[in-house]
Amino acid sequence: MSENLSNLLKEERRFAPPAELAAAANVTQATYDEAAADRLAFWAKQAERLSWGEPFTEVLDWSNPPFAKWFTGGKLNVAYNCVDRHVENGLGDRVAFHFVGEPGDTRDITYGELKDLVSQAANALTDLGVQAGDAVAIYMPMIPEAVVAMLACARLGAPHTVVFGGFSSDALASRIDGFGATAVITSDGGYRRGTPSALKPAVDEALAKLGDASPVEKVLVVKRTGQDLPEGSWAEGRDVWWDDVVAGASTEHTPELFDAEHPLYVMYTSGTTGKPKGILHTSGGYLTQAAYTFWGTFDHKPETDVYWCTADIGWVTGHTYIVYGPTANAATQVLYEGTPDSPHKGRWWEIVQQTKATILYTAPTAIRTFMKWGKEIPEEYDLSSLRLLGSVGESINPEAYVWYRENIGAGSAPIVDTWWQTETGGHMISPMPGVTEAKPGSAMAAVPGIEVAVVDNDGKPVGNGEGGLLVVTSPWPGMLRTIWGDDERYKDTYWSHFGDLGYYFAGDGAKLDEDGAIWLLGRVDDVMNVSGHRLSTTEIESALVSHPKVAEAAVVGAADDTTGQAVCAFVILREEAGDGGADIVQELRTHVAKEIGPIAKPRQVMVVPELPKTRSGKIMRRLLRDVAEKREVGDVTTLADSSVMDLISKGLSSSS
Ligand code: ATP
Ligand code: MG
Repeated sequence: MSENLSNLLKEERRFAPPAELAAAANVTQATYDEAAADRLAFWAKQAERLSWGEPFTEVLDWSNPPFAKWFTGGKLNVAYNCVDRHVENGLGDRVAFHFVGEPGDTRDITYGELKDLVSQAANALTDLGVQAGDAVAIYMPMIPEAVVAMLACARLGAPHTVVFGGFSSDALASRIDGFGATAVITSDGGYRRGTPSALKPAVDEALAKLGDASPVEKVLVVKRTGQDLPEGSWAEGRDVWWDDVVAGASTEHTPELFDAEHPLYVMYTSGTTGKPKGILHTSGGYLTQAAYTFWGTFDHKPETDVYWCTADIGWVTGHTYIVYGPTANAATQVLYEGTPDSPHKGRWWEIVQQTKATILYTAPTAIRTFMKWGKEIPEEYDLSSLRLLGSVGESINPEAYVWYRENIGAGSAPIVDTWWQTETGGHMISPMPGVTEAKPGSAMAAVPGIEVAVVDNDGKPVGNGEGGLLVVTSPWPGMLRTIWGDDERYKDTYWSHFGDLGYYFAGDGAKLDEDGAIWLLGRVDDVMNVSGHRLSTTEIESALVSHPKVAEAAVVGAADDTTGQAVCAFVILREEAGDGGADIVQELRTHVAKEIGPIAKPRQVMVVPELPKTRSGKIMRRLLRDVAEKREVGDVTTLADSSVMDLISKGLSSSS
């Protein structure tokens, strides 16, 4: 990036922490001071949140960068840390999960029960031949057995890769193959918008595709829907019902100790910018950062909080902030199987009301959907239990932030806008709810213990009021250790941009405002260059979303003969705006020009019914760029709904 990003959008609103929360907050200014005084000593102290079977001798071994080793010499069992020790500490009766199934079935699982379930699953997997170091693929809906399966793998030291239950058999096959999974844990199906949707047949297809090259020896199948399996779907000797082997297994299982650097899992990135990358996370450092950030960012109080993260476990957020971070803190959480609009658009708020959830962690895309549906829906429910709200996945547009705070957080709950990546393992940049005076749309500052910077192309820090590239300037415990099976790609993708400076290149653009607060501006790959001005997708999208008729917006740069690139905007209107009226396109172009400046005025505004999103809810701008530049669209394997692209292309050809 030869020139810095133009810094255009202005936001003056500020929200200070509620006094009561600040007075009892987990993270205080002293936490920042302590981390700044001695970062490694700070992390060593955070590692004490875990129970180590053998203590570590060194906090960080960075002798062979960029290959980090954290807490070297230390040994632990991740599942023991997430489950057993709470039971040993007398918390066996505490609810770990309030499970809510989509059809309305509910099930509370205590830590005592979770310990039994995880032990049984570990024993069953051992009987099926799974050993420490064996790779296991998990392809399941959001049901308790999915969490149990992950923790059972962790307990055995068998690294898992969770493949989102909505992915196709192709995506599953490539991950099974790439990861070398010898076992697959799946279910007959799951519930999606009121109907059972099959999963097992996709496993069969994936394994058939791999044929003789398939590394899979066993397929363990949970019965969730009870739906009939297709004829010939059951492979004798390979396929085993979960109920047949887990339910009868012993609830006694001795957790083995593993090295701090033992592989815990591989998670494939969302694929927003290209082909997904298999990100390796290991045990001690990852769990330390997961446990610490869950405690700090969410100001978690184990006796009184009921926490709900709406992410799917097939996404890194589900790993760190459902399975590992919360359970390491003995949290009580909500686990919901379904979609926000099934059977009605108030479902989430009904669940908050029923479970008295106190902390809600979700994605901007969901918030914008609720904005589109209207505030009358949440208004029908008692949301007064909520005391803290979180956001992850994309920048939260200031309008969406304020809507979330007002309509879900009663105008008082602080919002933590958490920036992190599959690669970072845990939160990196976020307000701390008891300390930070937050600005809507800004992730604010690095969490204590993390060091980031916004730099120019040469790695020189930019000043306040300037934009550039986001980097992490020193290693952190939850960092990825490599791209699975591809050390060269790991070095090249993340560590080669700034030569000897040793900075981790995140791939995101960011700016520092006049106070030094960090604003994420979107992917570097998505930055637009209009007549020599580098414009941020996030800023123009936020300007569009600030228009009362707009619910969602995606902006891309398309080749343009005069300006080099031109801004093309795709917008979804709020329901109450109807079709927006005859002048909607002109109205929105003028609105952007007024909010940001004439340079950002879109050449084209397209009103669309949907936007292409990944399964984790991120907008896939690269596909929209393909449409805007009239190319064939690229890799869509991680798209939530591939028919969306047809809808959009059709709309485009009829309006231009
Ligand atoms: P791929 O790397 O395959 O293109 P991806 O980057 O979408 O996929 P993830 O690791 O799920 O995969 O997403 C991380 C990215 O999400 C970040 O790099 C950033 O662009 C975006 N992101 C996450 N949280 C925030 C946030 N709070 N504010 C702004 N952007 C965010
Ligand atoms: Mg990425």
